[in-house]
Formats: sequence, structure tokens, C-alpha cells
Amino acid sequence: MNEQSHPAGNLRTEKRYVDDVAKQLLGPLLDPMRHSAWRLAGWDAEQGISIYLEKDGRVLLVELEPRNDEQPCYACTARFNVCARRPFDFTSSLDAEDRRVVDSLVAMITDREKLLPWPERQPSSRRRAVRLLEVERVLMGEGRGHYYINPYVGCTIGCPFCYVAGRADLSRRLEGLPRLPWGHFVDVKVNAAEVLREEVQRVPAGIVRLSPILTDPYQPVERKFRITRQCLQVLQEAGFTAAVLTRAALVTEDLELLKRFPTALVGFSIPSDDDRMRQLFEPGADPLPERLRALAACRRAGLVTLAFIQPMLPMNVERLVEMVAPLVDAVRIDRMYCLDEVTETYRGAGLEHATRPRFFRETEERLKTLFARRGVLVEDIDDVKELLRRLRNRGGGQRTGSRR
Ligand code: SF4
Repeated sequence: MNEQSHPAGNLRTEKRYVDDVAKQLLGPLLDPMRHSAWRLAGWDAEQGISIYLEKDGRVLLVELEPRNDEQPCYACTARFNVCARRPFDFTSSLDAEDRRVVDSLVAMITDREKLLPWPERQPSSRRRAVRLLEVERVLMGEGRGHYYINPYVGCTIGCPFCYVAGRADLSRRLEGLPRLPWGHFVDVKVNAAEVLREEVQRVPAGIVRLSPILTDPYQPVERKFRITRQCLQVLQEAGFTAAVLTRAALVTEDLELLKRFPTALVGFSIPSDDDRMRQLFEPGADPLPERLRALAACRRAGLVTLAFIQPMLPMNVERLVEMVAPLVDAVRIDRMYCLDEVTETYRGAGLEHATRPRFFRETEERLKTLFARRGVLVEDIDDVKELLRRLRNRGGGQRTGSRR
């Protein structure tokens, strides 16, 4: 690895190589002279490889995950499972034109994946790794004026069910890094704010999510490096809208900064009313009472507040709704996906009933009914622009427009 001193201190930093590897795979797609009705709206190589294509406001997301014949996907190549969907439209499936576009991408990947280095992986001699990275890109386009930022890669909160673990490991593999268990590594993008300051001048202002799935923007190292805070400062000065998604009360240390945005959203994961469930399933994350206090502080600060009842853990539904409804504008509800990773935890606590489809279906129905009765919007929340429009239409707009 190239190493150099970081100008901000006596820190050793590395250059990130995974983008260079991904460029070899995506070659023709990245050619600015490429003629296609579908514009490349964004791509990244931090959570496997994700490609956003856009045409007339319609967006296609194609994701490359590790090859796994047991997992359903759109197509398989020698090394990847290829998944494809419309990220802002959960109601419709791919039509014939979408499939033609995805098929041609699959053909290109099949042809070019031979170019990728694919060495046998060495076991890591370390138990934990914090890398300080110099990156060239920070702001990732998702199409339709949506962006996301991962201030870090990896997450030392380390929830065992985190469904991005396999994809993050694929990116480490592409970069030739040894395997480390999820939760044991984090990459710190030390120059993120500097890079972002240039990027925001080249694109229209829009909505930026920090961070959709790959990391928690307020995980423990944020106390030391403040990469999330620095990125928020840049976004606020450039007139963007920020949507921060976290499990950590640390976000309240940035409340004054978040209040300066014309519109800012903060979403907390609140998967149960019972902190014993948090201790079992996400022991590295802040206790639920702390998250609820932080959510209340965000609410009092006039931010748009969201709760992610996700993944639904065993809970007293009525109590959870009592706790959360007064604190939020909208909720997203979803099931546990990576059940295999936590089977023993459920079994050891005698909670197998909460792994069954019936538990997820019935809990979701009751949550939806009770939140709706309390006037809380139940939403997918991926499309933050649409969420803000709906909140304004419902008259909840005093916190969704300019507050000053
Ligand atoms: S906090 Fe979020 S990103 Fe971090 S391990 Fe848990 S689910 Fe994954």
C-alpha cells in the first residue's frame, strides 16, 4: 500500500484501490462518450458493486453480490449474483425494457469479470483493523436528485444480522484484503469533507442519505475523527438536505449543525420496546432508552424524525407505538432478513416464534394499524423526496420546510 502522512496530523493513511478494480470491470459503462438512453447516475464499490442507471426519472439499481447459488437473484455470473430492482418504486417489477438493459449489463460483466484479480485470500493476522483512507469520491449518485455518503466503510457496532456484511467482504476481496469478521474493521475516509467540497459544486443540490446500509455514521470512531460532522458542514453550506440514519445517540452532538439545514431528517432504528432484545441482537449498539431520548431531542430541535422498526424483534407492539409515535413523523417497518446469522440467539432465548413469517406478518399489521391511528406515516422512506412531499401534504410541514 502507498502510505503517506496525513496533513491533519501524524496519521498514516492509505489510498483506496477498490474503485480502480471496479473501473476495470465497468470499463465501457464509465466512458463519458458512451451513447445510451440510460445515463449512469452513480456507482460504488464499497458494498459489492452498485450501479445506478437513470432514464427520464426512472432509476434502475443493479447490485453485484458474492456468488451464492442459495440466494435468489436476477442472474449469476462466474463470480457474482446480480440483483436488479427499481429503487424508488416498490410497486412495479422490471419491465421488458428494464430487463434488456440489465441483460446487457450482465453480458458485459460476464465478459469482463475475467479481468479482475481474484487471489486466494490470506487469513488476517489482526483481530481488528482501523484503516485511514484517502478517497477520490464521496458523494454517490442514486438518480432523481438523491445521493448517499458513507463517511466510513464497515461498522464496529457489528450487529450480527447486518445484511451488508457479505457485500462489504466482497469489496475487501476485490481490494486484496484479508477476511475480517463483520464488526471488526472500519475504514475512515479522512479526506471525505475535502473531496465532498469539490463534488457539491459539480452536481445539483439534492437529498443526501448518511448512511443507507454500509456503516453507521455515528459509530464510535466518529467521536475521534468527526468525518460525519465535517461532511454535514459541507452539505449544509452547499444547500443540500441531509437524512441521517443511525443507532447512536452521538448524533445529538451535531444537533446545532443539523438545525441550520433548511430541512434535515434524523432516523433511528428502534427494533423493539424491550432493551433485553437489544442486548441479545445488537449488543454493540446504544441502549434503546438512550436512542429514544436522542430521538426526542431531535424532535424538540425541529428536525424531521423517523423510526425504523427494522428488523422487527420480539416486542410489546402497543408499548412500542406508545413510546415512538409521539417522537416521529414517519416509520418504516421491515422484517429480519439474515435469520441464519442469529438462529442460535433466537433459539438460546426461546424466541423461535419470532423467526416465523407469521410473527413478521402479524406484528407488521398491528404496528401499521396503531401507528396510522396515531397519525404517523408508514412509509418505505427510501424516496426521501416523496416522503417530504407527503408530510407537507399532511400538514406536517412546519418541520419539513424552512424553520427560520
Ligand atoms: S449499526 Fe447498521 S451498519 Fe452497523 S452493523 Fe448494525 S445494522 Fe450494520
